[in-house]
Amino acid sequence: MTYDIAIIGAGPGGYTAAIRAAQLGMAVILVEKDQPGGVCLNRGCIPSKAIITSVDRYTEAKRLHKFGIKMENLSYDYGEIFQEKEKLVKKLVKSLSQVIKANGIDYIKGEACIESKNSLKVISETSEQAVEFKNLIIATGSRPCSLPNIKLDHKFVLDTDDVLSMEDLPESALIVGSGASGIEWARIFSGLEKQVTLVEIAPKLAPSLDNSISEAIRREFKKKKVEAYTATSIEEIDANRVLLSNGQELTPDIVFLGAGRVPNTEIKGVEQLDPEMNGKFFKVDSNLRTSIDNIYAIGDVNGILQVAHAASHQGVRAVEHIKFAQQADIDYTNIPFVIYGHPEIASLGYAEDVLMEKGIPYKKSVFPMPALGKTLVERENEGFIKVLADEENILGVHIISGNASELIHQLAIAKSAGISPEILSGTVFAHPTYSEAVYEGILGLVGDFFHLPPGLKTRI
Ligand SMILES: Cc1cc2nc3c(=O)[nH]c(=O)nc-3n(C[C@H](O)[C@H](O)[C@H](O)COP(=O)(O)OP(=O)(O)OC[C@H]3O[C@@H](n4cnc5c(N)ncnc54)[C@H](O)[C@@H]3O)c2cc1C
Repeated sequence: MTYDIAIIGAGPGGYTAAIRAAQLGMAVILVEKDQPGGVCLNRGCIPSKAIITSVDRYTEAKRLHKFGIKMENLSYDYGEIFQEKEKLVKKLVKSLSQVIKANGIDYIKGEACIESKNSLKVISETSEQAVEFKNLIIATGSRPCSLPNIKLDHKFVLDTDDVLSMEDLPESALIVGSGASGIEWARIFSGLEKQVTLVEIAPKLAPSLDNSISEAIRREFKKKKVEAYTATSIEEIDANRVLLSNGQELTPDIVFLGAGRVPNTEIKGVEQLDPEMNGKFFKVDSNLRTSIDNIYAIGDVNGILQVAHAASHQGVRAVEHIKFAQQADIDYTNIPFVIYGHPEIASLGYAEDVLMEKGIPYKKSVFPMPALGKTLVERENEGFIKVLADEENILGVHIISGNASELIHQLAIAKSAGISPEILSGTVFAHPTYSEAVYEGILGLVGDFFHLPPGLKTRI
């Protein structure tokens, strides 16, 4: 049989594309050499958040006295946190396998090797199977890699796969990079009372985010005793001695390389098709199509935006382009980006400095979370929401706060639906909720806030 679509890789990009193709009545085959769920489910989003949630509960328990509750002899067992994470991943892999099956998707375990632009071979330990297709979606993802002066040895210098496999945590860690993984592991290590130092080569923390967020992260790190150096790199690693570019010498128990991934483009046989590359990534057009007309590349392997929900959205759009010739034209400024720091960080659209650089006119509203009844009820006294907009549209949203990962979607809906701040300001928000910060953020654009005590504004 000739499949309408063959998909290589069952990460969030590949399996979502397969489900969408099946929903549209197409004959689809999904090839995966490891477990369904890809990096996201097995070595990324889910296991890291399972650990973070345990750490968060521990952190919460330590401040129960603020709620009038006494707790003695509080402790944690990292071995159990690890086992709980393993169980959760196993459960989700099983449930995803059932979803794939229930959708009538043909699934083969094995390594896909490309034979021609319409055929591939799947090699497993016990067999080889030929697959013919009209269209191919490459969703092979990415993997960690070494960086200049920082060679992974998986014993002292560890990557994200290594730290997620540790059944016990060392007493001290040097984290390299303040992207999502660096910030998340700073939260894990410091939350479990380990000594953390973080180095970031860029002049600010979380370099891709709005400057106000970078500054807020710096303040949070200071409170949590995370030593952070920006504009600093690793000069040399010699046994367990690490020399930084600022001249400092450290002897951490481990170095965690939170930055650096390479796309999995070295699929056997792909070289004969000679697809155009964009640096290390497969080059794609606005419909996610490579330079070969029936071959698409989605997710981490095209390097556009390396997050799970971008991969799955691209998967859906690629399939719809195949089926209906419908233009994908994804607006990446509508895709939220979340870092599960403490507090959480969420951002959408343009950072303020980018708007300035581009000369795009905008209005700004910044509302401090401690001005809300709800954050005080939760005994939280940190964070803010910053909303950037013109008369018609939301242009950017930057939040650092408890529940930021949820709050961002209210304005993601508004932004992608093109709802103006004026119209949004007519929405009623329940009291007391975190969502009232979204309301205040909008009010600050169209008029003025309702709940801003004098003095709080200046703290941002
Ligand atoms: C520690 C960590 C935490 C993260 N946390 C988040 C988060 O909270 N939120 C978020 O949105 N993103 C997060 N990410 C990023 C997210 O995991 C990736 O963006 C996402 O998994 C990319 O999906 P994908 O489908 O492109 O590829 P992947 O998930 O990498 O899946 C690719 C699959 O292809 C398979 N494959 C490769 N080559 C072949 C071949 N030749 N034959 C058969 N199969 C093959 C691989 O085995 C793999 O299963 C995190 C990443 C890491 C490392």
